[in-house]
Amino acid sequence: MPSAPHILRVALPVPLPREFDYLPPPGQAAGPGWLGCRVRVPFGRGGGDLVGLVVGTGPASGDPGALKAAHERLDAEPLLQGELFDSLRWVAGYYHAPLGEVIATALPAALRAGQPLPDTRRHGWAATAAGQEAAIQPGRDGRPRRLLLDLCEGPRDEDDLDQHSPGWRAAARALAERGLAERVVMEGALAPRPVAAPEPTPGQAAAMVALRSGEGFRPVLLEGVTGSGKTEVYLQAIADCLAAGRQALVLVPEIGLTPQTLSRFRARLGVPVLAFHSGLGDGERARAWADMASGRARVLVGTRSAVFCPLPEAGLLVVDEEHDGSYKQQDGVRYHARDLALVRGSKLGVPVLLGSATPSLESLHNALSGRYQHLRLGERAGGARPPAVRVLDVRKRPLRDGLSEALLEAVGACLARGEQALVFKNRRGYAPVLICHDCGWSAHCARCDAAMTVHAGGRRLICHHCGARATPPNACPDCASLALQPQGAGTERLEQALAARFPEACLVRVDRETTRRRDALEKHLARLGDGPGILVGTQILAKGHDLPRLTLVAVVGVDEGLFSADFRAGEKLAQLLIQVAGRAGRASLPGEVVLQTHHPDHPLLGTLLNGGYPAVAALQLAEREAAAFPPYAHLALLRAEATTEAEVQGFLHDAHAAFEAREGVHANGPMPAPMARRAGKARGQLLVDASQRQALHAALREWLPALRALKSARRVRWSLDVDPTDLY
Ligand code: ADP
Ligand code: ZN
Ligand code: ZN
Repeated sequence: MPSAPHILRVALPVPLPREFDYLPPPGQAAGPGWLGCRVRVPFGRGGGDLVGLVVGTGPASGDPGALKAAHERLDAEPLLQGELFDSLRWVAGYYHAPLGEVIATALPAALRAGQPLPDTRRHGWAATAAGQEAAIQPGRDGRPRRLLLDLCEGPRDEDDLDQHSPGWRAAARALAERGLAERVVMEGALAPRPVAAPEPTPGQAAAMVALRSGEGFRPVLLEGVTGSGKTEVYLQAIADCLAAGRQALVLVPEIGLTPQTLSRFRARLGVPVLAFHSGLGDGERARAWADMASGRARVLVGTRSAVFCPLPEAGLLVVDEEHDGSYKQQDGVRYHARDLALVRGSKLGVPVLLGSATPSLESLHNALSGRYQHLRLGERAGGARPPAVRVLDVRKRPLRDGLSEALLEAVGACLARGEQALVFKNRRGYAPVLICHDCGWSAHCARCDAAMTVHAGGRRLICHHCGARATPPNACPDCASLALQPQGAGTERLEQALAARFPEACLVRVDRETTRRRDALEKHLARLGDGPGILVGTQILAKGHDLPRLTLVAVVGVDEGLFSADFRAGEKLAQLLIQVAGRAGRASLPGEVVLQTHHPDHPLLGTLLNGGYPAVAALQLAEREAAAFPPYAHLALLRAEATTEAEVQGFLHDAHAAFEAREGVHANGPMPAPMARRAGKARGQLLVDASQRQALHAALREWLPALRALKSARRVRWSLDVDPTDLY
């Protein structure tokens, strides 16, 4: 009997928890050499194609005659292998997601679509013979000539030119047109040209000693107040890693990856530092990925999805602001980039450095219980003092457009000193709600359980949840009164009020609306310059920018966060307040923070003021332990949405019934989602909690096939969120 032909097992980007068998393309034989390579395969009845990854080969189990053949092999060499592939398998197992979808999430869009791996050879520029000749002749001094003289000393790398010769591209083009210079492939790696580090503070020096004393995988929590020099510690650790010939990956929050951050890294490390974020084009992202895969690039700084970059010569992983919410993917494969960084670090056998002024309670718990090394930086570097904090009790005080007189006076005094003030309110738009003063009616979104936000000074209503827009009514729809008024204040209203009060001051508003374009934030801050001025904005301002003239941070409206039902609300509010306050007085000028509140006696504020973040964290950890919430328990949230409430409830009831009870694991619900209707869909959820992680995952593994088989599942969109950060 002839042996069965070998087939390819292919992971495809479809929401089915299985792999698919294909015959190799006609005339080719399947074998281990296919593992990790992409293939284009026919899929479905429509005759469409999909790009998938070969994850196994072997003899056909069933009738090979029934199998289709793959169209083509897309990679000569494996694209995904080794540790990265193992880590993706871990993601699929831990988040209970199909491997094909995990792979599609991990790959840059161009590679996912089947495009070839970009050419990552380094290019440079060299003078031609004619160029050497021309350089000796006298000529007009200008950029092209200076570049030519430079190239006559030897070819220059494009990355190197980018860093040290701004504007070189136009000059190179001019030289090329005259046949004086040409683009060439460069050999060998670029030597680092690091800039000397500042003398470390005692805290930094101790942290470096601790970091250097270990070997292999080590999770390290670097807890340091804002401005204490954590970034300097990262830079030093990365420099060590580069000197050892290894690669480093640095994750930063979505709002933290600024040109300022990149140029600081580039200048200090003296090597090209790749950026990786959603603002890059598909081609650039694929190129950065390929650069890391080939080992040509040594340092990559990127946001959440950069955690999937290849690290064949890994030496260090850094997660800056490890508590930041943007590390959690909130749709599709709902991974947490910090947690995945730890998994990768352990598989790679390299240290993982988590840094924050306000660590997540999960990481803090791990550090306090000895599972992570815990390093602390207690003081600001370079002599800057911590800002003084003052609470403005505004009970029974009139607020004009959300601002108290005392707060306005503090802003005025700051401007008079020639310094800059930040007025922070985590709410964009003009006002959070439009209400009728006569009957209490308020403008609600027709498709969501939510108020419409007032925009454009009252001329427009926008739903921040589904994007619906409406024109405000002239009269109350319920009582026909004309007394419709925007209630409360968002950044737009604060901006107006501040402009009226300080007409001479330079005023810059920074929120999602004013920063849609990628470089918008930089432009706004450039407009502010070094002169006296006011920044008004949301949490976009909380992180990432060093503004040496900023000495006053005025926080307006902490009150919403004090009374939220979310079990993480206290942690998040404390983190946000500390981060925003950390903007004040980062340089030689002393800083001040004022908190305007109606609840000056709230225990969270008191604890924060007296004991800082560590005190709040201790309090919150005790509460979590008492209530059996993470990090003392483990959660998974099953979410469902559908056209009708009945469909959602039907599915969730069936889902609960299909849940096999086991010790220490409970399914709770169905419960309404905090927003029971959104964008016209009814929503609901079921919460699974467990005291042990393993037990949770064992229960989920059993539950998911049962969920997929439910008839009622066909009428809803559902998803499972492991370790949810938001319970809605
Ligand atoms: P963090 O990341 O903790 O907010 P940074 O590393 O950005 O802190 O440091 C804050 C400021 O202090 C920066 O302007 C930085 O250049 C400066 N700085 C950091 N370490 C030192 C040091 N050892 N000596 C002098 N200045 C320092
Ligand atoms: Zn009314
Ligand atoms: Zn809406």
